[in-house]
Order: sequence, then structure tokens, then C-alpha cells
Amino acid sequence: MANILIVDDSRTSRRILRGILESDGHTIIGEAVNGQEGYDKYAELKPDLVTMDITMPIMTGVESLKKIKADFPDAKVVMVSAAGQQHNMLEAVQSGASEFIAKPFDESEIKRIIKTILEA
Ligand SMILES: [Mg+2]
Repeated sequence: MANILIVDDSRTSRRILRGILESDGHTIIGEAVNGQEGYDKYAELKPDLVTMDITMPIMTGVESLKKIKADFPDAKVVMVSAAGQQHNMLEAVQSGASEFIAKPFDESEIKRIIKTILEA
């Protein structure tokens, strides 16, 4: 079971992800609403895993991913993407993203992906 940080500007997305991950036995140790806050909370909380929305104000998820991986190369960052973000997904892969979760959320797929990453 893991300590997880959720980074997403959508309150609804944060609530749904929290519900799925907590029902899977994980602990949500923090939430952040943009990429900058996500980086700051990563540095403060050192979670086992981060879910990182791509489209956010102030700092995008891809920029936040780059900052986190620059300072914490072993960070496990799962990108949360909506349709039509193929370009951002390629950049995220090249920047060290561990995996992708698609919106709208599929509970069993999310649980499978998180399990795979934590076992790696
Ligand atoms: Mg968003």
C-alpha cells in the first residue's frame, strides 16, 4: 500500500481518484491544484507515487513532472490525461512519466496500473 499525492485542478477528479485509491487500500497524503503546488508538496511529503493531471493553470502537469524528476529522479509519476493530449503524452513519456491514466476514470484500470508501478 502506498502514500499517494493527487495533483489535479478539478475538485471532482480529485474526489473520484481519492475514492478509487483509498478503496484500494492506499493513503492520500496530500492534494495539490496546480503543477507548482504539486512540486512543492512532492518535495515536502515525498510520496511513494503521484497522480499528475496534465492540463492545469499556473504550471502544467508536464512541467511539474520535469521539475519533480529533475530533483527526485526515482519519483513515480502517473500522468492523468484527457482525450486529445497525444502531444503532451509523448513529452511526458520522454520526461520520465511512469504511466498514464485516462479520463474519464476506469476504476479497475487505475487499480491495475497503480499495482504494476508499485511492484516494479
Ligand atoms: Mg485539469
